[in-house]
Amino acid sequence: MIRLHQRHTTYFVNLICFSQFWVLCVTNDNRNLIFCLIGNSAYGRTLVQKEQYKSVSHHSSHDSATISRKVNNKMFYDITELGDQSVEIEMLRPVINLNVPVQIGFFVLEYGKLLMLKFYYDFLTKYLSDDSFCLIESDTDSLYMALCEPSFLQTVRPNKRDEYVTEHENWIAREYCDQHKSAYFDSAFSGTTWVPEKCCSEATKYFSRQPGLFHVENISRGVIALCSKSYYCFGEQPKMSAKGIKKGQNKLDKKSFTNVLFNKCISQCTNKGFRKRDEGLFSYTQTRKGLNYFYGKRIVQEDGVTTFPTHL
Ligand SMILES: [Zn+2]
Repeated sequence: MIRLHQRHTTYFVNLICFSQFWVLCVTNDNRNLIFCLIGNSAYGRTLVQKEQYKSVSHHSSHDSATISRKVNNKMFYDITELGDQSVEIEMLRPVINLNVPVQIGFFVLEYGKLLMLKFYYDFLTKYLSDDSFCLIESDTDSLYMALCEPSFLQTVRPNKRDEYVTEHENWIAREYCDQHKSAYFDSAFSGTTWVPEKCCSEATKYFSRQPGLFHVENISRGVIALCSKSYYCFGEQPKMSAKGIKKGQNKLDKKSFTNVLFNKCISQCTNKGFRKRDEGLFSYTQTRKGLNYFYGKRIVQEDGVTTFPTHL
């Protein structure tokens, strides 16, 4: 199983260039972190659904007068017990100011999807034969696929290799300099380990930061992909994601993912945190649905693995 990831989406290059410039001006060890935050938060912010905004307040369970008044208010939305003798009340907002330029986030994501489709149909299916790879899942900037050979380049059709060599760097970040290009492909196609010289390492660093190019981010023995942003890659370097579940507080391993997939059971998870109530700070423990086997975007077959498109 291999994960190909696009480090920077092409369609936000100006912002990235700006933040890279800005990051260069900041001389501390958290430069990459700041850079990531600026790049992601700026366009993520433009996709905020302000219609969904609620006003949240916390009250003691004994404060029945306030709770009753809020519950009977026409703007009342929801009430949740937090388990420490306090309740969380969500109220709709009387006025919502829709002043976010949603066009930015919309086009970044739509162009991101278009690029993923081009990568799959114009590149992968062109150079890899259908029976040598299998797409597992894709996000807006990455995809996971299973390969029948130990590496991606060994999977390239032998009769298309010459053409592939010229096309490679339009899609995938180079790991070689101009001088060692042919040596790199000889080594990669034959499956021997590529030992880069200093010139090649510098080229790798440079191209790994080019927007729009993919690079291999993870190679594992396999992956259990339950639904969007919930997966577990098992192998020498396990990699996992579980949306809405705090990793440190819940046991998430290959067994728990396999159990959800094949036994069709929804796991429970516990999230702990802090909430402000009046002038005090209180901790809370919440039990909620954890990993879920349900996948609604395609029709999942009885084996829990094969999927077909929906009839819509
Ligand atoms: Zn070189």
